[in-house]
Amino acid sequence: MAVYLDYNATTPIDPRVLEAMMPALEEQFGNPASTTHERGRMAADLADMARDQISSILGRSGHDVIFTSGATEANNMVISTYGLENSRFHEILVGATEHKSILETANHMRREFGLTARTVPVDSNGVTDLVQLEKMLSDNVELVSIMAANSETGVIQPIEHIAKLVHGHGALLHCDVTQAVGKIPFDANKMDIDIATMSSHKIYGPKGCGAIVATREARRQLKPIIFGGGQENNMRSGTLNVPAIVGFGRACEIAIGDGLDDVPRQRALRDDLEKQMIASIDDVTVNGVDAERLPNTSNMRIGGALADAVIVNSPGVEISTGSACSSSAMEPSHVLLAMGLDRTAADESIRMSLGRQTTQDEIDLAVSEIAMAAKFVRKKESEIPERMV
Ligand code: PMP
Repeated sequence: MAVYLDYNATTPIDPRVLEAMMPALEEQFGNPASTTHERGRMAADLADMARDQISSILGRSGHDVIFTSGATEANNMVISTYGLENSRFHEILVGATEHKSILETANHMRREFGLTARTVPVDSNGVTDLVQLEKMLSDNVELVSIMAANSETGVIQPIEHIAKLVHGHGALLHCDVTQAVGKIPFDANKMDIDIATMSSHKIYGPKGCGAIVATREARRQLKPIIFGGGQENNMRSGTLNVPAIVGFGRACEIAIGDGLDDVPRQRALRDDLEKQMIASIDDVTVNGVDAERLPNTSNMRIGGALADAVIVNSPGVEISTGSACSSSAMEPSHVLLAMGLDRTAADESIRMSLGRQTTQDEIDLAVSEIAMAAKFVRKKESEIPERMV
């Protein structure tokens, strides 16, 4: 099998997570809404246990959790709320390097419902421009959405500082913590986050499961986007995916336990990866290098070698050119463009993200394969008179 260095796209399920899920797939298969019988109540108890495990990773309580199908749905629900009629001013701010599930929902609400959604710029390292944020904040802004850490570059945002500015203007802070949890210690209470959104499959849990974790005040503002049976206190209808929810809960428990213990090892491997890439290939730069970054993520530009071509020529390594969703759309990364890279530089950037199974041998192998591919691609590209971009 190829070396997998795409853990920010998704992670393999932890065997302990799978083990925890099995009873909910077999004998404890009840519908948690069927409170008239024992099987239903058992399923509801399983989901409630997961609520506690998930919320405690953020320093919150089980009541704060609304289950969703993933972070995409969670982000859609949060942003949609502020375009709807009941919203006071129809005005929000979103970070320039947010996930597309934020930016595209904001675009949709802007087009269809007249939401004012302005974009907060980042500096050349991908860190939110706090001076601009302060200028853009007014008492009309209801929500500010800034992610904890970026999936493409790993750049970590100064959330505590942002929360102070946002709350100073009476707005709520939404933070997409999908990439941060399990990689850095995280306390939503200390950081004063009103609404957090997260996903199970980035932390060795099953796919198709996520959550909104919001304070009581924030939950009062949020509006559902899915209607039906009234599950999740009418906030998100649809039968709960109990096996996945149980897995998500267990994944959270592991993430803040021995999951975090592995982080220093991943950081050392990531640092070595960057050192080796720079030593064995000319003109390699690390995007976001001067910012605080996730310990498992590296986004590197290889000058003169298109990333797509490098990836095609490194079949032994599984990496990506940015977020998985953007890379299938074949657009330059909006994250790198927002940091001021030009289109060529963005197209020459690869993302490598490490995880619990990554070994030193895999890093060594990946570097030698990518170095060979880069050499080959550069030679090919130098033979083309003018690169088509
Ligand atoms: N937000 C961030 C920061 C992400 O990295 C991702 C996954 N690429 C998402 C949201 C979407 O998560 P999901 O796959 O659960 O819909």
